[in-house]
Amino acid sequence: MKIASIINGAERMDGSGETMEVRNPYSGDLVAEMTLADEKLMEEAIENSRQAFQQTMKKMPAYERSDILRRASDLLEEKQEEFAEIVAREAGKPIKHSRAEIKRSIQVLRFSSELSKHMTGEVLPMDAALRGDNRMGMVKRVPMGVIGAITPFNFPLNLSLHKIAPAIAAGNTVIFKPAEKTPVSAYMLAKLFQEAGLPDGVLNLVLSTGKVAGSTLVPHKDVPKITFTGSLTVGKIIRDTAGFKKVTMELGSNSPNIVFEDADIDDAIERLVNAAFGYSGQVCVSAQRIYVQEDVYDEFLKKYVEATNNLEIGDPLGEETDFGPMIDEDAAKRIQEWVEEARNEGATIETGGDRKGTMMYPTIITNVKKDMKVVKEEAFAPIVTLMPFKTEEEAVANTNDSIYGLQAGVFTKDISRAYRVADNLEMGGVWINESSVYRQDNYPYGGVKLSGLGREGVKYAMEEMTEMKFIGVRL
Ligand code: NAD
Repeated sequence: MKIASIINGAERMDGSGETMEVRNPYSGDLVAEMTLADEKLMEEAIENSRQAFQQTMKKMPAYERSDILRRASDLLEEKQEEFAEIVAREAGKPIKHSRAEIKRSIQVLRFSSELSKHMTGEVLPMDAALRGDNRMGMVKRVPMGVIGAITPFNFPLNLSLHKIAPAIAAGNTVIFKPAEKTPVSAYMLAKLFQEAGLPDGVLNLVLSTGKVAGSTLVPHKDVPKITFTGSLTVGKIIRDTAGFKKVTMELGSNSPNIVFEDADIDDAIERLVNAAFGYSGQVCVSAQRIYVQEDVYDEFLKKYVEATNNLEIGDPLGEETDFGPMIDEDAAKRIQEWVEEARNEGATIETGGDRKGTMMYPTIITNVKKDMKVVKEEAFAPIVTLMPFKTEEEAVANTNDSIYGLQAGVFTKDISRAYRVADNLEMGGVWINESSVYRQDNYPYGGVKLSGLGREGVKYAMEEMTEMKFIGVRL
């Protein structure tokens, strides 16, 4: 399969003349070959998106945007197996998890279709202010124009749709720059929108390197907003080069989970195995630090290791597979080095620690110190650290001792403690009796500290992709 950028409805094999291979991280099989866009093609795409905003989107009524998004969701539902298979092949994500991602993507399109009809503003009580008599004031929400959407490899469809669908719902046009590792589902998505009747130029797919996006899209004067999901390292570069424009940043974390002695331990274990090892830990809210109250620590550790050792490991395309490879061998090598470093510094590897090619086996680490990389930095890999604690205060303090603050899980049956801890955690979101990895697509999702800026979740993303415009009338 050969894929290329799609600009103004046309596939562009010209680009830079350079190509890149997309390979299945498990088998090494060739999935696709993509032609890379260069700066010139990116410029052309941006100019086309600017025109499509002025000539098409500004005039398109909300019911039409809603219809297109609804048709896109229906088409995705029809093609869900095809999409799930491509995500499994290009990202190495177990097919069960790939299917779950597509189901969520369908919902993101449906929420966007519904909310495109509810972009309401407000009428202000102008006479509340001195000199305000005989005046009327209203606030409308208006689209911003061309939105630059830069996305990561780990949820190639759903995280892309978290930007594209709300942007369209709100009446913007989009330059979509997907991750180099997972461009095939992105290409299929652009085609699907064409089939759903989205006019040419409203969604321009630009398959380029991060470098081209960073030098051309991010600082571009005609792109008033960049919405980025990815690593802190790249997020910082984008923040520095975006200049005066608005940015949404969905970055990483070393997500914590706290298990109190009164928790339903078996239930917590079931959820935390998935939280640490689902998609090989390559999830921004993957459980990396688990704090367990000391009275139940031994029981938790024993059962947690047993449950982890029961994971079905293998080919992502296998129906029974729970756990597959990492995105590439470099990622697997890097995390193996971190594990070795922790071992040399006195940590205990309770299970895992081994690697074969792209496959890093599920790894549970104990006897860790808080300044070890496996605790402190975002692992984004199938490793998890377990740490005992005595008091609630200690658990909260340890949890907050991080540069990140995305989402946490707290397991307890004590409702007062649950709310107290939730209030005291420095996080964008806290789940009670659910792990840090759980996410629905309709609540505000995003981080504090270095985990990000702004929120996604369709309604909230639409707010971030619109401007408030005040209109006043002197009667
Ligand atoms: P990455 O930062 O390496 O790449 C993300 C995207 O940025 C890619 O499309 C890449 O091509 C592009 N890019 C690279 N350099 C760029 C530059 N200089 N200018 C502009 N764009 C550039 O991330 P990844 O490895 O694909 O994804 C993993 C990271 O994403 C992890 O840190 C993870 O925590 C984070 N993530 C966060 C969330 C969230 O919602 N908070 C969700 C998923 C992933």
